[in-house]
Amino acid sequence: MSKPILINVTEEIVLGLVRFLLHSPGYQTFCDCEYCQMAICSVALNNLPTYYVSTSDAREEAYLTLKTQENLEVINKKIIAAIHEVGKKANHTI
Ligand SMILES: [Zn+2]
Repeated sequence: MSKPILINVTEEIVLGLVRFLLHSPGYQTFCDCEYCQMAICSVALNNLPTYYVSTSDAREEAYLTLKTQENLEVINKKIIAAIHEVGKKANHTI
């Protein structure tokens, strides 16, 4: 059996989607620095259910469950709202 893990699969998916969205043409006006990326992820993740797993197999299953069209739409909506919320009060001077 492989080593046990403790991973929130929602977090992994959100991190990937936030990076992807911030680099897509529609979001060029938003800052994509590390600070803003993490701020966006934290806002989005506080508005989404967690999905913790402790084995690699469960992680694979969680990916299949979370990556359905329906779930991705919900996740994307929360991320887009978070991008706008963070973008409104981006308060760093980098
Ligand atoms: Zn920034």
